[in-house]
Amino acid sequence: MWTRHITIKINQEGEIITTIPAILPTSRAESFLRANSDKIIRKLAKLSTCNKATLPTDPTELEKLRKQAKTQLTTELHQLATQHHLTVNKVTIKNNKTNWGSCSTKGNINLNIRLMLLPPHLRQYIMLHELAHLKHLNHSPEFHTYLNTLCNGHEKALSQELRTWKIC
Ligand SMILES: [Zn+2]
Repeated sequence: MWTRHITIKINQEGEIITTIPAILPTSRAESFLRANSDKIIRKLAKLSTCNKATLPTDPTELEKLRKQAKTQLTTELHQLATQHHLTVNKVTIKNNKTNWGSCSTKGNINLNIRLMLLPPHLRQYIMLHELAHLKHLNHSPEFHTYLNTLCNGHEKALSQELRTWKIC
């Protein structure tokens, strides 16, 4: 790949990936890395303080968690829905690395099995987010206002806390 600039990327595993234009001597890249070492260290420190929602690797353990998730998450979601006078159609437990949950136009809600690894208040926050989509199927200001009501005014703090969690 051709590149015109030196770039530094740090991936989820904490690996530092540097791209250097072919015409530049390696020494230039080295001095660039050195000049940016503070920034790199800060980034790495932030990564290590991130909580990781990692699923068990053992298939038996994973299956156990999936069954538990199906019962527990479905029950919790329906309880929250009833509490806020909302109607959920179908609840499906998903195993993906792209999102914590999603909501369809038909009122079907998907929840990530990794919700089982989150503290209860964050699990509940994600459920409320998906439930709020039953009223607003977008991320408009109206959606956020409504979600904030469902969260008793704690939406901002909860969303900030959730950002410290990574789906792994
Ligand atoms: Zn959303």
